[in-house]
Amino acid sequence: MAERKRKTTSASSKRRTKKRVSRGVRYEADGETLKGTLVGLVTVIAFVAVIAGIIWLCGGFGGGEESGAPTLEEGAVNVHFIDVGQGDCILIECDDGAIMIDAGENEDSQKIAAYLNEHGVKRLNYAICTHAHADHMGGMDDVILQFDVDELIIPTKTVDMNFCKDVLKAADKKRIPAHTAKPGDVIELSGGTLEVLDDGIDADPDTSDTSAVMNNNSYVMKFTYGETTFLFVGDAETEYEKEMLAKGEDLDVDVLKVGHHGSRDASGDDFLKAATPEYAVIQVGRDNDYGHPHSQALKRLKKAGAQVYRNDELGDIVVTTDGKKISITYDKQD
Ligand SMILES: [Zn+2]
Repeated sequence: MAERKRKTTSASSKRRTKKRVSRGVRYEADGETLKGTLVGLVTVIAFVAVIAGIIWLCGGFGGGEESGAPTLEEGAVNVHFIDVGQGDCILIECDDGAIMIDAGENEDSQKIAAYLNEHGVKRLNYAICTHAHADHMGGMDDVILQFDVDELIIPTKTVDMNFCKDVLKAADKKRIPAHTAKPGDVIELSGGTLEVLDDGIDADPDTSDTSAVMNNNSYVMKFTYGETTFLFVGDAETEYEKEMLAKGEDLDVDVLKVGHHGSRDASGDDFLKAATPEYAVIQVGRDNDYGHPHSQALKRLKKAGAQVYRNDELGDIVVTTDGKKISITYDKQD
């Protein structure tokens, strides 16, 4: 966000400078004036160079991998990993629609709404909650209330918690159909497909840690656009990864939304060997209470050859694909 602000400033200072230069050139009369004009011109050029240098040092004039969020180009898809701190929020933005996967904590809804407005997204074809945890589902009620949403997909296992009830209440209030999804379900959008690969594993709630049970009931979805692929795994842990591997699911992708915020309990070696992600995005908050991402997960991602992008380090991360090439931009934070 800060980056984009700086970019606006740089554009207006560029315009101001141009005006000055053209004003100087207009005064070409006798020698004295011309000399004065040249001195003025040199001063202006020096001034422009200094300003450009400052902007460059601040990370402006981006163009490369480190500048602000791109606008959607025709025929491309932007997959936004919105920085909501410790939580997940993903926006798949296509030519003819958008899908949101998770919406952070309850208090993140303002940031998410501002982000959608900034990108001109008024309508979501689908709002999907991967699983019933507050850092994924908490802000979805406000998103539903503030934006046009065609359909809500909710987890198979929901819990009797207020944030779950609020999401369902919001959908009911806006008369939005809410339903669960099952493996094999496919959403098509702008030539891209989002397929539900899995909806979780059966675990015995009496013998299992209930938090892990919820994590392992995350929807795992694969988005394919042209030759490029993305895998969204919610908070799936290694036990679930193993089950997906045993089922022979096609997990091979270009971009992986890393499971469970980079926890040591997710992103196992075998899973990463099957996924072979070129890029791995970790949705994680700065100085979070869990110590995410854990060094063990980071090491495994490195070993798998993935380039890691983290919201806590880079702010909002946008992966753009034209169906063949992938490029990544982000708001670098100091
Ligand atoms: Zn989570």
